[in-house]
Amino acid sequence: MPEWDVPHVLGAALAEGRLAFRDRARLERHQDALARTHLRWVLPRSPATADRFRAAGLPPERWRELPPVGKPWMMAHFGTLNTEGLTLEDVLRVGHAAERSRDFRPTVTGRSGEVVVGLSTGTSGSRGAFIVSRAERLRWAGVMLRHLLPGWPRGLLTPQRVAFVLRAEGGLYRSVQHRWLDLHFFDVLRPVEELAAALTAYRPTVLVGPPSVLRALHAAGATARPARVVSVAEVLDPDDEAALASAFGSVVQVYQATEGLLGLPCAHGHLHLNEAHVHIDLEPLGDGLVRPVITDLRRRAQPVIRHRLDDALRLHPQPCPCGLAARRVQAIVGRQDDALLLPGRAGNRLPVWPDVLRGVLADVRGLREYRVTQVGPHALILDLDPCTPDMAADATRAVHAALNRVGVDSAPLTLSTQSLTPLPAGHKRRRVTRAWTPPEVP
Ligand SMILES: [Zn+2]
Repeated sequence: MPEWDVPHVLGAALAEGRLAFRDRARLERHQDALARTHLRWVLPRSPATADRFRAAGLPPERWRELPPVGKPWMMAHFGTLNTEGLTLEDVLRVGHAAERSRDFRPTVTGRSGEVVVGLSTGTSGSRGAFIVSRAERLRWAGVMLRHLLPGWPRGLLTPQRVAFVLRAEGGLYRSVQHRWLDLHFFDVLRPVEELAAALTAYRPTVLVGPPSVLRALHAAGATARPARVVSVAEVLDPDDEAALASAFGSVVQVYQATEGLLGLPCAHGHLHLNEAHVHIDLEPLGDGLVRPVITDLRRRAQPVIRHRLDDALRLHPQPCPCGLAARRVQAIVGRQDDALLLPGRAGNRLPVWPDVLRGVLADVRGLREYRVTQVGPHALILDLDPCTPDMAADATRAVHAALNRVGVDSAPLTLSTQSLTPLPAGHKRRRVTRAWTPPEVP
């Protein structure tokens, strides 16, 4: 069933060329123009969005000042937020049924026609439901094509095979096939050896997947020489980047969330915010980290306006040699609630960002994989692979030294080590997580 609409996808891909702004002021004028058109369309159709402007006493043109909302608000107002006339119950029912049957294209019929449903995993059990219209999928495919196809536009002259190794939630944008462009989806819940053999046989020209899954496929014997490896859905640590580059070839990163396509690589392979389509405000979190508040200037089925994400990013201090005006991301550090909260030497509770520990643990010789979990106010568990006594001692020493450097009081701290059990297939790898919540934080 070809739903692949070539003129639309190519149109979106070609339009991207005109959206590569080099001048910041021009980029911002473009965002303002998009926002005006977008809000004129959304406000009469999305009562929940109109209510936000009313409650804040703001006219549409002052959208940048609208107080941010998050996923809980979005789920609580799903029925009056979306413009497809769908209820949250309908969408969740379709999403859950699809997960059980491993059907990757769960759809419901909305006002604009066929709408794809995706469920996001959430911390502390809060799942998000997301819908994407056909027009939105086609645009997404065009934008991805433009940014990921090697040697655009010459890349179109040779047949391209794009392998997506994704979890169920990646199905939100599952598009399709055409004679010169084949998109193939590999289900991460298949046994890894089987998946590795299928990937090798497919001979992808572009390979897209979470770094932990791509590394596992390589370890299971997958061989491929794609022109580009694209890391999605998980933090790409420098050790992942090095391992994937030597396994498959050069690696770029896409910053895609269910809330939107937030970052894309430039011609130099560096990650930039997708500011031609999404307005992104960055709230400081301390330690040079920022948290995005996004306004998707295109998305109509489920408007994403002044929506606060849980991600912590670090911007690159240097401008990119490519000359794009869109800001450059140095690292997606992880989710904000993955930051450990440890006793500081001043008697305070100190946030420790995941990259502090990932940096030192990547340097422990012979350590293949690890997980750090905070399980109590002073208690950390280190899951190590391999977990020999020497490895446990080295890793413990490295963690203590890193924590010491950032001002953690190591006296009350307990650090226990154990052997790492692999995550069940399909689970997102998070190397550093906090499983304990301080009582006073809601
Ligand atoms: Zn660049």
